[in-house]
Amino acid sequence: AAFGTLSDRLTETFRNLRGKGRLTPADVDGTVREIRRALLEADVNLDVVKDFTGKVRERALGDEVNKALNPAQQVVQIVNEELVQILGGQQRRLEFAKTPPTVIMLAGLQGAGKTTLAGKLAKWMVGEGHSPMLVAADLQRPNAVTQLQVVGEQAGVTVYAPQPGNGVGDPVRVAKDAMKVARDRQHDVVIVDTAGRLGVDAELMKQASNIRKAVDPDEVLFVLDAMIGQDAVGTAKAFQEGVDFTGVVLTKLDGDARGGAALSVASVTGRPIIFASTGEGLDDFEPFHPDRMASRILDLGDILTLIEQAQKAFDEEEALKVAEKLATETFTLEDFLAQMQQLKNMGSIKGMLGMLPGAKGMREQLDNFDEREIVRTEAIIQSMTPAERRNPKLLNGSRRLRIARGSGMTVTDVNALVTRFEQAAKMMKTVARGGMPQIPGMGPV
Ligand code: GDP
Repeated sequence: AAFGTLSDRLTETFRNLRGKGRLTPADVDGTVREIRRALLEADVNLDVVKDFTGKVRERALGDEVNKALNPAQQVVQIVNEELVQILGGQQRRLEFAKTPPTVIMLAGLQGAGKTTLAGKLAKWMVGEGHSPMLVAADLQRPNAVTQLQVVGEQAGVTVYAPQPGNGVGDPVRVAKDAMKVARDRQHDVVIVDTAGRLGVDAELMKQASNIRKAVDPDEVLFVLDAMIGQDAVGTAKAFQEGVDFTGVVLTKLDGDARGGAALSVASVTGRPIIFASTGEGLDDFEPFHPDRMASRILDLGDILTLIEQAQKAFDEEEALKVAEKLATETFTLEDFLAQMQQLKNMGSIKGMLGMLPGAKGMREQLDNFDEREIVRTEAIIQSMTPAERRNPKLLNGSRRLRIARGSGMTVTDVNALVTRFEQAAKMMKTVARGGMPQIPGMGPV
């Protein structure tokens, strides 16, 4: 996934610190050098890297680490905090206009993912109780209008597209007309998709800038493909000068590319990253949280996002029931099965598992994970008696053998399932009580 290599390198660096009581200046220098190399290899902008490693080094040599009970862990903490800063510090939410409609304009290179994003944003807005209208002001790319109509339909929202003979070829005019229509029809959000080019060019900037003037947006979102590597910073600066923007959306974070340049964009432009896009589907999209992204990169886990996604995918009634069961400690294998079945609804199981703390360690397991796992789990649980499902403690050796035979699995499979169930029950109990589950990577270093 995104930042995978960077993440691997950093966690490896921290592993090397493990077991060290005090850290000598040489330890700190070695670590900082490794971090620097990892960031540069991931295409993080040089100035950003210098600044980052400078801060980490200074803090790591200071009292904060010297006096820490666990110096190595303290260094991880420092890296985490500085990474959060690079990514923009606090989460920045999308701003809505005091008097609707809120106007959001999308800008970026061709292929960055603007049109897809328009659909994602619209769908997300609907979920938040808004009534968005999409505007097709990308009249450059063949099919762009049709593509927007398709995503609009998928998202279940109105799309304003130029009628033949009425403003075709003039995106500024289309955008202006659209504003009037949006007001008449009482849409409270207007999302304007604009044209991109393959590279930065003056005419493109002028057009985007004119649309900006015409619609006076509350937010201009610069859409940046995280996979374009080193060019990301230059492109971002060019758009900042040419159109200026209020926030950034990183797309294609699901890609395997180095992606580090995207990490620099908030520091280089001083504009916050507001959303992250992680796939081609309309649901592969989330508000960006600098702290959660940093945790993901450092493999500290991203429990909060995981829970939010789970809450979205589980139907609410079911979620309430589960919460109740967790509170009263009556979570059973039947519930576990029901949950696994609901997991099927979620975008990407691998993505979800990837958010679990320490997931890097189970990279191989993740790669081997497939949805057939759910089918196998179903088979095993369905071979249990209702009493066994409610009370897994009943599962002695002979019962496990019977279940294995009944489901066509081995006793080892059955054992593994019971262990997984117990771990899940334990983790969810902790979460339900408002605590953070233990983070494996952060144990005594
Ligand atoms: P536009 O030219 O900026 O409007 O870009 P599009 O929305 O047409 O997207 C270009 C391509 O990137 C399309 O094939 C999209 O399906 C794909 N795409 C967009 N966002 C993502 C993402 O987050 N992840 C992946 N893997 N593909 C994406």
